[in-house]
Amino acid sequence: MSVNRQILLRARPEGRVEPEDFEHIEQPVPEPGPGDALIRTTWLSLDPTNRLWMREEPTYFPPVELGAVMRGIGIGQVVKSDNPDLPEGATVAGMVGWQDYCLASEAMAPFTVIPDELPVDARHMLGVLGHTGQTAYFGLTDIGQPQPGETVVISAAAGAVGTVTGQMVKALGARAVGLAGTPEKCKMVVDELGFDACICYRDEDWREQLAAACPDGIDVDWESVGGEVLDHIMGNMNLGGRIVICGLISQYNATEDHGVKNFDEVIMKRLRIGGFVVLDHMADRGEEAVGALAGWMAEGKIKPMETITEGLETAPTALNRLYDGDNVGKLLIKVADPPLA
Ligand code: NDP
Repeated sequence: MSVNRQILLRARPEGRVEPEDFEHIEQPVPEPGPGDALIRTTWLSLDPTNRLWMREEPTYFPPVELGAVMRGIGIGQVVKSDNPDLPEGATVAGMVGWQDYCLASEAMAPFTVIPDELPVDARHMLGVLGHTGQTAYFGLTDIGQPQPGETVVISAAAGAVGTVTGQMVKALGARAVGLAGTPEKCKMVVDELGFDACICYRDEDWREQLAAACPDGIDVDWESVGGEVLDHIMGNMNLGGRIVICGLISQYNATEDHGVKNFDEVIMKRLRIGGFVVLDHMADRGEEAVGALAGWMAEGKIKPMETITEGLETAPTALNRLYDGDNVGKLLIKVADPPLA
């Protein structure tokens, strides 16, 4: 390829992301300078957090500047290199951005080389073995700490993080009860992934169904949604329960804040609430997480679930699929087919 297609953030979305919030341009492919490496994107990960990075307010990262290439996690192949740590032909994971090519020196964080002997396709370094699966691992290990026989409720259960979390809960000997947006998704997580139950949160009586699926109450809330879901679960936790604040996706497109209700339950039930950002732990404890997750994958205890779409240009519209619930498991964009010449 002789051009570098790039998708720039042009406007900060209000509510849903719209195509007009972006500009698609073509630039010459950059030349790596001394000590640098040129990476061609092969896979892009779509994450709810992409939407947060478009906001004016800083998150755990500074906002993406208007006119800059949209930030995005992905996988690529090193196609030219003067950097011995990133040799030509290596497959790498990191902040490639919504573009065909990036220079390693310009990325906001170092790239990780994916070993050639990885027993599964490299794209799983964005899914079960990457930031997605590691989110489940660190959140459960450090905060949720489910004990055998305890009940864990998992929101966004059929999504990327939710599918790994529920299967890891089962691998640890606890009960996994999911919440998802359609009966089909609920059936899939029970029949294919071994969850004990899953409730469609769009059903009018979902609260009653959830109570029936948790006869011994709720010990751990894996919270990916927030809003009414969090309010209800917080009001129904067992004594000494743990709430893992993984994400609050129902609030990311919202233009008004949804205050938390039932907060007094934190005292009455002696709850522990913990938030975390997976990226804080990946450098130091990534090996531990990948080791455990790869082990469960090899034993068939964690099955990877994915929704794959094609073409870099689809990124802005594909992101909305996460907000429409139009994905099962990890949502990925295939940008180019490796190995690349
Ligand atoms: P998912 O693959 O789970 O996709 C998002 C899912 O959320 C959709 O499929 C949809 O499923 C559900 N959803 C969307 N809008 C709503 C809504 N208004 N109410 C209820 N459900 C909704 O995405 P990820 O697995 O990548 O992320 C899941 C959560 O984990 C997010 O909150 C994300 O921000 C968080 N996260 C946190 C990390 C951390 O370090 N703390 C790291 C990675 C992710 P359905 O059909 O069931 O509605």
